[in-house]
Amino acid sequence: MKKNSRGTSPHRTRHLMIYTFLLILVLLYFASRQQRLTMEGQQKVEDAKKQVSVLELKKTKEKPSPDSGDALVLEQEEMWSLILTNESHPVPENINIQLKKIDGTEESVDERVYGPLMKMLAEMRQQGMDPIVCSGYRTKEKQTELYQQQIQEFIDQGHPEKEAEELAKKEVSVPQSGEHRLGLAVDIYSGGHLALDVGFADTPEGIWLREHASDYGFILRYEQGKENQTGINYEPWHFRYVGVKAAQYMKEHGLCLEEFYLDQGLYG
Ligand SMILES: [Zn+2]
Repeated sequence: MKKNSRGTSPHRTRHLMIYTFLLILVLLYFASRQQRLTMEGQQKVEDAKKQVSVLELKKTKEKPSPDSGDALVLEQEEMWSLILTNESHPVPENINIQLKKIDGTEESVDERVYGPLMKMLAEMRQQGMDPIVCSGYRTKEKQTELYQQQIQEFIDQGHPEKEAEELAKKEVSVPQSGEHRLGLAVDIYSGGHLALDVGFADTPEGIWLREHASDYGFILRYEQGKENQTGINYEPWHFRYVGVKAAQYMKEHGLCLEEFYLDQGLYG
């Protein structure tokens, strides 16, 4: 009792202080909780917005606006000509290609490409040019031989083996990948320029092909400035068949095949 009567005031003060302190703690706790919930809420709203925009993108992709003038309708039966092959997309091992030999050469192409190729070459000859097909379909064995040769060439130039291999991949397709393996591509040079080098781009044949190959369904497959997408250095002599519609679309929009795949949503 003595204690009570003498200590009431300091005790009360102490209790008041403790209660006040606890109250502040509780208030602080709720304040921070509220803030966290608000932030989580905002994040959810942001996420929802993102999801909506992705869906909208997909929707636009699936149904191109009919008045955009950009819509390209690809039929299932023409997809054979649009097969993508590059280092990360090898040609299926069991692919069955019906070949047709190109007259006056040792080269062959997929028989479905033969007609358009002959028409294109005939038109060039008609105009006084001298196009020569120096490479068409390649077996995996032939590809391996060319690939090893290219690596050796870089090693002979003094590059370490690993580096030589990386450099070779930009010059020739790795075995079992690439257009020649499909029989859908040809290398063309000219009677006046018997070399597969960038100089071909400035020959009458090189200039004409760049401009008109798409009218026959061919694209300049390894274009300058597209090396990062195709993985292959500029090759003004290498033409790949993709069909007239797709070739003209790619030329008009400046797309390489990899970009066309993205543009048309063709990646599986
Ligand atoms: Zn080629």
